[in-house]
Amino acid sequence: MKPPHIATIAIDCPLRKGFDYLIPKEMRSSSLLPGTRVLVSFGRRAVTGIVLDTKHHSDFPEHKLKPIQSRLDETPVLDEHLMQLGHFTARYYAHPIGETLMTMLPVLLRDGAPAKRKQNFCYRLLPQADLTTLRTNAKSQLALITHLKQGELTPQAIKDHNLSTSALRSLQDKGLVEKVVRDACAKLSPSALQPPLHLNPEQASALKALTQSLDAFAPFLLYGVTGSGKTEVYLQIINKVIKQGKQALVLVPEITLTPQTLRRFESRIDGTIVSLHSGMNNTERLNHWLMAKTHEADVVIGTRSALFTPFANLGIIIIDEEHDASFKQQEGLRYHARDLSIIRAKELAIPVILGTATPSLETYANVQKGKYTELALSQRAGAASLPRFHLIDTRSKKLHQGLSLDLLTQMQKHLDKDQQVLLFLNRRGYAPSLICFSCGTLAGCPQCDARLTYHKRKNHLICHHCGYTMPQPKQCTKCGSEHLQTLGQGTERIEETLQAHFPGVDIIRIDRDSTRRKDSMQKHLDKIHQGGKKILVGTQMLAKGHHFPGVSLVGILNADHGLLCPDFRAPERIGQLLLQVAGRAGRADIPGEVFVQTVQPTNPLFHLLFQQDYSRFLQTLLQERQEVGWPPFSALALIRAESVQLTDAQHSLLTIKELCESHLPTHCVLLGPIPASIARVSNRFRVQLLLQAPSRQTLQACLPHLIQAMTQSKIKRNVRLSVDVDPMEVA
Ligand code: ADP
Ligand code: ZN
Ligand code: ZN
Repeated sequence: MKPPHIATIAIDCPLRKGFDYLIPKEMRSSSLLPGTRVLVSFGRRAVTGIVLDTKHHSDFPEHKLKPIQSRLDETPVLDEHLMQLGHFTARYYAHPIGETLMTMLPVLLRDGAPAKRKQNFCYRLLPQADLTTLRTNAKSQLALITHLKQGELTPQAIKDHNLSTSALRSLQDKGLVEKVVRDACAKLSPSALQPPLHLNPEQASALKALTQSLDAFAPFLLYGVTGSGKTEVYLQIINKVIKQGKQALVLVPEITLTPQTLRRFESRIDGTIVSLHSGMNNTERLNHWLMAKTHEADVVIGTRSALFTPFANLGIIIIDEEHDASFKQQEGLRYHARDLSIIRAKELAIPVILGTATPSLETYANVQKGKYTELALSQRAGAASLPRFHLIDTRSKKLHQGLSLDLLTQMQKHLDKDQQVLLFLNRRGYAPSLICFSCGTLAGCPQCDARLTYHKRKNHLICHHCGYTMPQPKQCTKCGSEHLQTLGQGTERIEETLQAHFPGVDIIRIDRDSTRRKDSMQKHLDKIHQGGKKILVGTQMLAKGHHFPGVSLVGILNADHGLLCPDFRAPERIGQLLLQVAGRAGRADIPGEVFVQTVQPTNPLFHLLFQQDYSRFLQTLLQERQEVGWPPFSALALIRAESVQLTDAQHSLLTIKELCESHLPTHCVLLGPIPASIARVSNRFRVQLLLQAPSRQTLQACLPHLIQAMTQSKIKRNVRLSVDVDPMEVA
């Protein structure tokens, strides 16, 4: 039979289909496999496309088809398994196939660069280097030497570990270090590897269960409080996987992929580790991606998008902090890396571990249904004990700039013992509002339905939704009065109050403003880890993932905010946050205490949480969700319309609703359209339609009708539409 002469090509565009092209004669000799990149003309441009399929017949007249301009890959960049995952993802999230496949590729490959490693080089210590010449106060140089003694360093590793490049140059000038060309860096010499810890009985039985399941699809929930030794279990199972000649993929939230995390893995894993995250340049990303594909790397540690990394022989997937919202992409292809990891693991018949101290309700429900196996670590590893919780009823108490006297007294007690205190407040800036005391007007953003936050250091009002910034006004914009006052507290104001209240105590503020500069987060963390009495004030950046052995007291300042949030996931999120923040306390041998300020001290949620029985908390929430039919007892898709005119957005959603409502299976409903809880952001109105189905399968059956209605309805050009399957926020 003749070789096929037509190829269907996926192209990075919003159209939900592939495009037919002719395969030129000279390209027909070796087959053009799905997943291969080609260059094609599209509109007036030449673009990268990905082969979906080849065939003998097109529905279009052949003389109208354009030929493929050139072939970019000898072998497919996306193998059969990843192509299958791509098709699944596009279908499940109702996203165009071209955009989906392109999202899976590193930027350089999207742009048509060759799928070849750029030449790498490494730095290594010269064997004959005489280190006695180094001054003992050359700290940055000594830090480099410590690393180099364990093995060679790539430029990326130097960046990941926050090592100094100028110190590196000095060492090169002194003839102690040299640059060598390497395809891959030598791994840590076996003698430099740290030995495994002796596991406690729960860790040991978790490891045993995992070891027994290495050759089949098996999803596990590794459910252990912070500090219970989950990471230790990951490290030991990964080494077993590597011994079998296989690879491991570890996904972590952006915020926990720190130099410390990498160092811990490197010191224990008997293989080559590469990272994949947004802080890397495109070349390094491509190199690491290809190293996984060719099995030059044994372990990939990365954030959300690393889920799409190709592997020669993947043996396990680990999702650390599986409950974390950052695994769901919030724009473009709105995929959930945790959910797709299950699909990927099933396809490859390998185990997947979801690790967390605070499982998501979705995952917990799967454990209860018997779909996932629970492995519990109920004790903190080593000597550390769990923190004790206390409520501070702020209804009847006078607060000093948001801080109760009780909390201030407790803080003093812990500081007197040279211990550290962590205060959590989920609000950056100085004050969340500026009010006119003459007419009562609150300063609002001209582009959004939201208030402006006062930032004292910059002396600006800033909108946290669109970034709009203006100097602090002297007068009320409405009545001209100069009687303007700030209301409420943000982290900046708490920091100021504490400076006055605890003179001489180091106060470290961690939020998006204080960590904007590169390396500033690391500097803050280093300071905290030096130990000694310190107060840490911060937003959720401080609440996640970090280990603060010196912290013995945690204060939570505005727990009530989350309780008032209209989203159905709000209670779950509060529970996660409180336990995660509390988990920062008492990690070493000092028992921790947690004080929560609230005006709702009788709220049953607190009592469930504070009994230290997160499973009972989850059971209660699950029951509530079942009663009202929210996920995981139903499945949702959110259709968003954005437009300059509110009516345009509303209209388009109404049309879509009318067009598809009658085609939906029974028990599927379309709720809305209603404006989003902040209806206008950046001068665009946001309206949404919620599709609710009794199960994920039924929801999937609805999606084609929805897409058809979206395509059919003559949407005005200025209306932007998007679909979010399994949305994280619906308010
Ligand atoms: P998690 O990942 O659950 O937060 P880690 O694995 O980071 O927990 O463990 C917390 C601390 O306890 C670490 O300092 C780790 O070295 C220590 N640890 C873990 N397992 C053991 C063990 N079996 N024996 C002694 N210490 C352990
Ligand atoms: Zn006024
Ligand atoms: Zn705004």
